[in-house]
Amino acid sequence: MSVDDLAAGVRADRRAVLARAITLVESRRPDHQMLAQELLLALTPAPDAALAIRVGITGVPGVGKSTTIEALGNHLIALGHKVAVLAVDPSSTRSGGSILGDKTRMGTLAVNPRAYIRPSPTSGTLGGVAKATRETIVLLEAAGFDVILVETVGVGQSEVTVANMVDTFAFLTLARTGDQLQGIKKGVLELADVVSVNKADGDHIVEARVAARELSSALRLIHPRGSLWRPPVLTMSALEGTGVPEFWDAIVRHQRTLQEAGEFDRRRQQQQVDWTWTMVRDAVLARVERSAGVRSIRDEVETAVRAGGLTPALAAKRLLDAFDATPAGD
Ligand code: GDP
Repeated sequence: MSVDDLAAGVRADRRAVLARAITLVESRRPDHQMLAQELLLALTPAPDAALAIRVGITGVPGVGKSTTIEALGNHLIALGHKVAVLAVDPSSTRSGGSILGDKTRMGTLAVNPRAYIRPSPTSGTLGGVAKATRETIVLLEAAGFDVILVETVGVGQSEVTVANMVDTFAFLTLARTGDQLQGIKKGVLELADVVSVNKADGDHIVEARVAARELSSALRLIHPRGSLWRPPVLTMSALEGTGVPEFWDAIVRHQRTLQEAGEFDRRRQQQQVDWTWTMVRDAVLARVERSAGVRSIRDEVETAVRAGGLTPALAAKRLLDAFDATPAGD
C-alpha cells in the first residue's frame, strides 16, 4: 500500500488501515521507519488545525485505570467525542504481555465504533515506546479522534515520559488511611494536574474524602497560592460512574485555564522541542553503540571499569574518542 493510500485510509478512519499505519510507526525496521516518516509528513496538520485533547492517566496497578477509562470513554462518547486509548508500558517490553490497554477490561468501550484502543508496543526501550506513542497520536488525530487518553503505570520513568506528551496529566490513587502520603511518590504529585481518589463507594466514601483532603494540603505546598493552576483532588467511583463527569470537567477546566494564559500552546511547543532533542539523543547514542571503533573496545573498557582500573569518566572519554576516530558510517 502506498503512502498516499495509507494517508487516505487513516484520514477516513478505516480501522484496518489505521492499525497498519500504527504497526508501521511501531516497527523498528529501517525501511518501515522511512515509510512511517513519510506517512507522518503526509498527515501533518496545518498549524491552525484543531488538535485532540491529550490526557495522561497514571496510577498503580489495581487503582482502577481501565475501569476509569471505560467509564470516562463512554461519558465522552455520549458528549459527542471520538476517543482513542493508548498505553505506555515499558514493562511489557520485558514480559511480552501488556497490563495496560487491555480491551477485555474495557469491554463496552472496545466495541464502540467511536472508540479505538491500542495496547502498548511490546518491543523496544521506553524511548522507543514513547516515540511510537507520540507518532501514533499524530495518526489518531488525523483519523479524527479528538480525545486521546494515554494510560501508564506508576513505575519508573514512564510517568515523566507520558506527562511530557499530554496536555493534562491525571493521577489516580486510593484512600489508604494513615500512611497515605508516604505511599505516594512526591514526583508523581508534582507532575499531576488533576488528582482523583478512586473507589469512593460503599463503606469507603468517607475515607476517600479524608484522603482527598490530605492530598489537597500536600498539593498546596507544591503549588503555592498564586500559581496559575492548583491541581484539584476529587473523589470518584469508576465502577459506579459517580464523579467521572466531574473528573472530566476538571480536565477541561485545566486546559481552559492554560489556554487563557497562553500556557497551553507554550507547553505543546516546548514538548515538540524536547521531543526533537530526545530523538537526537537516541539517534546519537545508537550511532555511538553501532560504531565499529566503539564495538572493538567496548568489552575491554567495561571490564576495566568493573575491575576499578578505569574510572567511568575516563572510560566514557575512551569510548567517545574511539567513536570520533571511526570514519562515518563505519
Ligand atoms: P488498573 O489495573 O488500574 O487498570 O485497575 P482496574 O480498572 O483493572 O481495576 C482493578 C480492580 O478494581 C477491578 O476489580 C475493578 O473492578 C476494581 N475497581 C475499579 N474501580 C473501582 C471503583 O471505583 N470501586 C470499586 N469498588 N472497585 C473498583
